[in-house]
Amino acid sequence: MEIEIQLTDRPIAEKFLSPGQPGAVGAWLEFRGVVRGEENGRTIRALEYEAYPEMAGREIRRLLQEISARHPCRAAKVIHRVGVIPAGETAIYVGVASPHRGEAIALLAEFMDRLKQDVPIWKRGARNAGLRPGANWKTAENVPGRRPALQPLSLDEARAEIRSRSRPLPAVRTPLAEALGRVLRETICAPEDLPPVDRSTRDGYAIRADDASKTFSVVDTIHAADWKPRQLESGEAVRVATGAMLPCGGLRVVMQEHVKRDGDKLHVVRRENSTNVRLRGEEVRQGQPLVSAGTKLNAGALAILATVGNVNPPVSPRLRILHFTTGDEIVTPDQTPKPGQIRDSNSILIRSLLQNFPCDVEQGHLPENFEAAMSEIAAHKPGIESAGVLLVSGGASVGEKDFTRALLEQLGFEIVFSQINLRPGRPLIFGVNGPRVAFGLPGNPLSHFVCFHFAVATALACLTGGEPPKFLRGQLAEKLDDKPCPRETLWPARLEWNDATPRLHPLAWASSGDITCLTAANALVRVPANCASLDDGAKVDFLPMAAMIGGG
Ligand code: AMP
Ligand code: MG
Repeated sequence: MEIEIQLTDRPIAEKFLSPGQPGAVGAWLEFRGVVRGEENGRTIRALEYEAYPEMAGREIRRLLQEISARHPCRAAKVIHRVGVIPAGETAIYVGVASPHRGEAIALLAEFMDRLKQDVPIWKRGARNAGLRPGANWKTAENVPGRRPALQPLSLDEARAEIRSRSRPLPAVRTPLAEALGRVLRETICAPEDLPPVDRSTRDGYAIRADDASKTFSVVDTIHAADWKPRQLESGEAVRVATGAMLPCGGLRVVMQEHVKRDGDKLHVVRRENSTNVRLRGEEVRQGQPLVSAGTKLNAGALAILATVGNVNPPVSPRLRILHFTTGDEIVTPDQTPKPGQIRDSNSILIRSLLQNFPCDVEQGHLPENFEAAMSEIAAHKPGIESAGVLLVSGGASVGEKDFTRALLEQLGFEIVFSQINLRPGRPLIFGVNGPRVAFGLPGNPLSHFVCFHFAVATALACLTGGEPPKFLRGQLAEKLDDKPCPRETLWPARLEWNDATPRLHPLAWASSGDITCLTAANALVRVPANCASLDDGAKVDFLPMAAMIGGG
């Protein structure tokens, strides 16, 4: 297929080329993706896209080639605009030519579906995305000279922003021994039927499936590693080991426990219904999908890839994560805190939660002074530049010493949101800088835990090209007693599966600094805003913890 790709920062022309030589094609399909003037309910004037042009061009070409193997077309032309694109203008143009319309439509549809997932082009941000003062507009932030916080988002809005801004990082090929927990980035299909031949599931004797004889002559012996093709006649049997490749099709295996053998003579005492044969292709046929793109590779998936010899699958890269604590009151856990000081529990919390994602973590501490913090960050410069994810604990709120937002901006991050209508975890900051994402996490350890699970875990899943954690439906096993709160709550709970129903035991917590419930917590129950309490047996949404869904 002829492929033409352009990445341009200029407007994409209104009219496009004709389908080439008359008679060569029967279908010429054109598609334009246009910037909408609204995103997540907010009016926007423009969107900004960023790409590494060479890498993006290469990925678009690879994707088109892969899809055209299934839907052969004559030619495709893709023009992606980058930089600031005003609402109403074309962000992407795709033209496809093919002899018949079916292939062109199929290729275009699959290409557009896969583009977002596979190609490193990032939406850097909505320009003029309504900084409108809302009901929760903080008076402290209206002080002249202080930057206003963006209006608090709902939990769902925040998750939608995180999902759309955290783009999958380019895939890498990795040996199976290092691929546990990585996200597979291409569907792996069976290169041949599985099993590739009929095999015996028993130690016994292979005979023709239709052979009703009582006595047989043993004409050969086949071990698991042998390959001895031959046709069997009626009255002939072959001694076979478990796993042995049967000498021809149409056989059954009689277990050795069900025969009497005397030299080369064999007498069948009992016949089972089962043929004791793993038939060629009974697991999966050649070309059928074995492990789908987006799967987080667990031990079983790796074993399947090993079975088909796919020893370097394309997977998500190992993430590089930089985590800083902040706050002059923080001392390391081995120290005895003086009055006013507290031990750092967030570092080990974050490090442990990150164990569910294949990543390298670098941790540090920032002094509570903007300039001093910036020079500390300079010492981590290589880490910052190579890290895909920056996490800052504390300093996310609006106190005089809370500088996380300013710090992220100084590092070039566009702040997508800086507050959410959530308890605990309201002052959560999310920023993006090209392919990198950053979170300013509220310092209180319970807020930290909650924000990690619903926000950071979502970003990490998206960056790796995997499935972000989802809320599931369950039932309260006990009454949840609460005071009405104008924000939604993610309430720590113990999830148990009784009789196939997820049942949730709400755990007690006194404040967003109280982590005594976390040894038992393995889920977060979603309590609607202004809800005083929920009865025993009430249906609720809950988020299972990363360890329960992670697989890795
Ligand atoms: P901040 O978000 O910086 O206002 O911090 C909110 C609360 O979390 C304060 O009581 C901090 O002392 C506490 N905190 C901040 N960082 C940590 C940490 N690394 N470990 C434990 N508590 C922390
Ligand atoms: Mg602080």
